[in-house]
Amino acid sequence: MVKAKYSKRRRTIQGLSFAVLLSIPLRFFCFDLENECMRVFGLECGLSTMFYPLFAIVGLLLYVVVMSMKKGRIFCSHLCPMHMFLEVVNAPKTKHADSRTAQVWLWAVVMSLFLTEVILSFFQPLRNQISLMASGNLPIIGIGSALFLGFMGLFIFYQEHFCKKGCPYALIQMLLQSDNTRYMEFANPEKTCTNCRGCDDVCPFNLRARFESKGTDCTNCNLCSEACTNELGRGNTLFDLIDSQQEKARV
Ligand code: SF4
Ligand code: SF4
Repeated sequence: MVKAKYSKRRRTIQGLSFAVLLSIPLRFFCFDLENECMRVFGLECGLSTMFYPLFAIVGLLLYVVVMSMKKGRIFCSHLCPMHMFLEVVNAPKTKHADSRTAQVWLWAVVMSLFLTEVILSFFQPLRNQISLMASGNLPIIGIGSALFLGFMGLFIFYQEHFCKKGCPYALIQMLLQSDNTRYMEFANPEKTCTNCRGCDDVCPFNLRARFESKGTDCTNCNLCSEACTNELGRGNTLFDLIDSQQEKARV
């Protein structure tokens, strides 16, 4: 039951994170260069106050980094669009589909367009972008193309390898990790594991969950635990989130 709560909370936060990203192209949260202000969900911050929301975002990111010392890679599993992408393309149904490559390309194009638009429309509304591109404005064409191709490269070629080895947050997490950082433990004391491999199959990072969930690559997304419950029945799982070496997580 507590695990279901953890998964629900994680998915709710993921949804909110996506909604915040979506609010940028919709111009609820953006720089309004024409009116020299920053729009923050109905508030207009003028020249003297427009940096307050930016400070708030930096503060929030620092908070997440500090929380990572205790909770592990929560930024990845709760907020990052790459994790959302990996949860879709590495879901068992997609992973084993004949059309996986086509699906990866499709999702990569959708996510790359979306994230490119999130960045561009923070500064310019879509209609301005289109008219600037139509008039041959090289800076916006160049920046837009570079962002789109960069995201495509990440989504098509690097995927979870970027998260494990290339992402700056992963590096910070490695430095912050300690014995007291939350981790996903696999324990099979009564030998009830059926070796169904559902936990491996569902892992967005393609980890062998039973053997690698304790490492710094695991994002504590809890999907392996859910897969195990599906196999062993309601209320049963061989995975547990552990807050420290002594104490089991109260999730
Ligand atoms: S090992 Fe489990 S908790 Fe860790 S990333 Fe994979 S599925 Fe998520
Ligand atoms: S999902 Fe559970 S039962 Fe199946 S292989 Fe993984 S640990 Fe074993």
